[in-house]
Amino acid sequence: MAKNIIQFQKGLSLPKFLGKYGTEEQCYSALFHLRWPDGFVCPECGNKTYCKIKSRKVYQCHRCHRQTSLTSGTIFAATKVPLTKWFLAIYLLTQRKTSVSALQLKRDIGVSYNTAWKMKHKLMQVMLEREKGKKLSGR
Ligand SMILES: [Zn+2]
Repeated sequence: MAKNIIQFQKGLSLPKFLGKYGTEEQCYSALFHLRWPDGFVCPECGNKTYCKIKSRKVYQCHRCHRQTSLTSGTIFAATKVPLTKWFLAIYLLTQRKTSVSALQLKRDIGVSYNTAWKMKHKLMQVMLEREKGKKLSGR
């Protein structure tokens, strides 16, 4: 999962993008389906029943009671940046023809330069690895 990344359709307009992924709930739900396409699976014991602890946005396994955060083990885990900003950063980095600088990203999504730089670095790494994977599987 750590290498997975949200993909947006090419040519998706900004208003359409914001309509689909403009709120934290929408982003959470998109990430949930990406991570667990067939529903939640406990990473500890493989059990599928859980309860959601809303206040902390974690899922607690009914069998082993391990608590799993939706973002743990993903590139979104390390930062405190809301998912909406991550999604917007992915959108900007993938939709624009020209490369986006960390400074531009900082202004566009409203985070510190340091955070923008880290986000960009992580996303570029994931995208690069995905490209590599594509080439390999294409042979
Ligand atoms: Zn479990």
